[in-house]
Amino acid sequence: MPNNILTEESKMNDVYLSENEKIDIIEAHMEKILLTLGLDLSDPSMNETPRRVAKMYVKELFYGLSSANFPKLTFIPIDSTFTKNQMIVTKNILVQSICEHHFLPMAGVAHVAYIPTKKIIGLSKLNRVVEYFSKRPQIQEKLTHQVCECISNILDTPDVAVYFELTHFCMQFRGVKDPNSKTITSEFLGKFQSDQALKDEFYLKSSR
Ligand SMILES: [Zn+2]
Repeated sequence: MPNNILTEESKMNDVYLSENEKIDIIEAHMEKILLTLGLDLSDPSMNETPRRVAKMYVKELFYGLSSANFPKLTFIPIDSTFTKNQMIVTKNILVQSICEHHFLPMAGVAHVAYIPTKKIIGLSKLNRVVEYFSKRPQIQEKLTHQVCECISNILDTPDVAVYFELTHFCMQFRGVKDPNSKTITSEFLGKFQSDQALKDEFYLKSSR
């Protein structure tokens, strides 16, 4: 692994490092962590663990840190055949993320709604947007906000509602060790914020 890159760690981001360079650096650090814990990396079972973890971080769990991985989106312009005031809801979107405080999983569902003004989006693309922002070290509040803001921006609509209900493994496996608690966050923009009936309709549609 090139040492000059290691000294640049504090500046690590897309501009400085390729995906493979990131994997090389994380592999070396992971190896140190495991050796510090007293593990035997000559054991065939653990031999590849540092590289396996490094690849998993860069390519799977944290691919959303790279803007190049933002999902390809296709839009459909609204014409007169659509009513503009229709609420579009995608509910029970699978969320699998990693908490940035403990690097442990948080998982659950998200419900997302918007009222189109100029265009609509393929429904599975809302899942893709949620997935993209989930694939970063996150806190639930920030994840909720990023998804809400992104949907408003890409669809050019002020009316967006986002709801997240997640179980945090850092609260189950350590700390308070509470297996049942879930954390709920929500963000409402535009009419969803000002119109209680609309907000209620969103909750009703999401919970059915
Ligand atoms: Zn945590």
